[in-house]
Amino acid sequence: MKVHVDKDICISCGLCINICDEVFQWGDDDKAEAIEEEISEHLEGDIREAIESCPTEAIEEI
Ligand code: SF4
Repeated sequence: MKVHVDKDICISCGLCINICDEVFQWGDDDKAEAIEEEISEHLEGDIREAIESCPTEAIEEI
């Protein structure tokens, strides 16, 4: 799986980065970004949790 953060609706709460900093990190614009590579299977549980926890539903599976 791969994920994408819609920066237009990210409110920089940091939740996704707290849940999985192997996949999410801060961009120069202080919005969250996701790595572009395919995500390892062992992180998929964390990623699903991040998708469900994001308060603005800014993270989508692509
Ligand atoms: S959880 Fe959502 S709103 Fe919060 S930093 Fe991550 S993408 Fe942005």
